[in-house]
Amino acid sequence: MQFGLTKEQEMIVSTVRAFVENEIYPHEKMVERTGEVPQEIGEEIKRKCIELGFYACNFPEEVGGPGLSHLEFALVERELGRGSMALNHFFGRPQNILMACNEEQRDRYLSPALRGEKMDALAMTEPGAGSDIRGMKCTAVRGEQGWVLNGTKHFISGAEHADFFIVFVATGEDQTPRGPKKRITSFLVDRGTPGFTVRDGYKSVSHRGYKNMILEFDDCRLPDAQVLGEVDGGFAVMNEWLYATRITVAAMCVGRARRVFDYALAYAAEREQFGQPIGKFQGVGFQIADMITEIDAADYLTLAAADRLDKGLSANREIASAKLYASEMLARVTDAAIQIHGGMGLMDDFPLERFWRDARVERIWDGTSEIQRHIISRDLLRPLGA
Ligand SMILES: Cc1cc2nc3c(=O)[nH]c(=O)nc-3n(C[C@H](O)[C@H](O)[C@H](O)COP(=O)(O)OP(=O)(O)OC[C@H]3O[C@@H](n4cnc5c(N)ncnc54)[C@H](O)[C@@H]3O)c2cc1C
Repeated sequence: MQFGLTKEQEMIVSTVRAFVENEIYPHEKMVERTGEVPQEIGEEIKRKCIELGFYACNFPEEVGGPGLSHLEFALVERELGRGSMALNHFFGRPQNILMACNEEQRDRYLSPALRGEKMDALAMTEPGAGSDIRGMKCTAVRGEQGWVLNGTKHFISGAEHADFFIVFVATGEDQTPRGPKKRITSFLVDRGTPGFTVRDGYKSVSHRGYKNMILEFDDCRLPDAQVLGEVDGGFAVMNEWLYATRITVAAMCVGRARRVFDYALAYAAEREQFGQPIGKFQGVGFQIADMITEIDAADYLTLAAADRLDKGLSANREIASAKLYASEMLARVTDAAIQIHGGMGLMDDFPLERFWRDARVERIWDGTSEIQRHIISRDLLRPLGA
C-alpha cells in the first residue's frame, strides 16, 4: 500500500468535506430536534450531489457510475461520516448489490437508482433473525403464478424514502450433517405492491432522523422477474454486499471520530482550570494523545482493507478488523471527548452527546463486534483445522 493520497484523491476529500460542511452541517440541529429530514432539504442535497457528480459514487463506469476505486470510495465515506446520517443518506449510494440486476432489471431499478430517480432499502433482519441470518422466517413459495411472500422484517433503514426494496427471504431448506440449512433468495419489491406494507419502526437513540421501519409481507405476490440474482443464491449475493458496506461503516467512524477529536482538542487548549489550559494536565493531554493514535490506527486499517480490494486480494479478515476496531475506537473517542468537556459534554445544546449516542449503533449494525471477532478468528483458525 502506498502512503499519501494522489492529487485527485486529495481533491475528492476536499470536495466532499466542503459539501458536508456547507450542505449537511447547517441542518443537523434541526434534524436532531425534530427527528425528521424535511423532503425539500433531502431533495436539495440529492440535487446538489448529482450536480457535483458524486451521486452513486460507489458504482463503476460500466453502469454509469463515476468509477471510484474502493479506496476513493472509503475516502468519500470518511468525509460523509463527519455529518448526520439522516442527511447524508441523500448523498445517494444505492446498494452495490444492484450490480446483480439482469439487463431488464437494470432498466427498471439500477439505472433509475443511479440517476437518483428511485431510492432503495435493503431488508435482511427480522425480529427473530439478526446475526443468525439463516434463522430467518420470512418465506417465498413458488406457485403456479409466481412467488408468494410472507413474514416480517424490522430495523430497515431508509425505508420511509425507498421506492423499492431488496428483500432476502427463505426459499427452501437443505439437510446437512450440521442440521437443516435455509436456502435464501433476494427479491426486488416495489413500494405499493399488494400484500406489502411499510410501517413505523422503533425510535433509535442513535442517528435521529435516520429512521428504521418494519416491513410486512402478507401473501405478497411477485413474478419471477423480481428475483435478484439466482433463486437460492441470495446468501452469496448478501455476503458480497456485506463485504463492501463494512468498510463504509469503518470509514464513517473514522470521519466522525476526527470531528469529535477537533472539539476535544480545541476545548483542551481553551478551557482553563487551576490557572492553566486543562490540556496541560497530563491526565487530559495523554487522553488527547491516545485519541489521535487510535483514530489514525483505525484510518490506516480501513484504507488498507480498501486497498486490498482494489488489488483484488482477499480482504474478509481485514474488513472485519477495520469495522471492529473503528467502531470500538469511535465509542472510546466520543466518551473521552465528553470527559474532557466535563459537564458541558452532556448538554444537548452542544453536539458531543449526539456523537456519543450515534457511536453506539456502529458496534451493532452491519454485523456486531462479536460477529466481526468471529469472522477474524475463523479466518485465522480454520486453516489450522480448528
Ligand atoms: C438503527 C439500525 C438500523 C439497521 N438497519 C438495517 C437495515 O437497513 N437492513 C437490515 O437488514 N438490518 C438492519 N439493521 C439490523 C442490524 O444489522 C442488526 O441489528 C444486527 O445484525 C444484529 O442483530 P440483532 O440486533 O438481532 O442482534 P442479535 O443477533 O440478537 O445479537 C444479540 C447479541 O448476541 C450476540 N451474538 C449473536 N450471535 C453471536 C455469536 N455467534 N457469537 C457471539 N455473540 C453473538 C451479538 O453480538 C449481540 O451482542 C439495523 C439495526 C439498527 C439498530
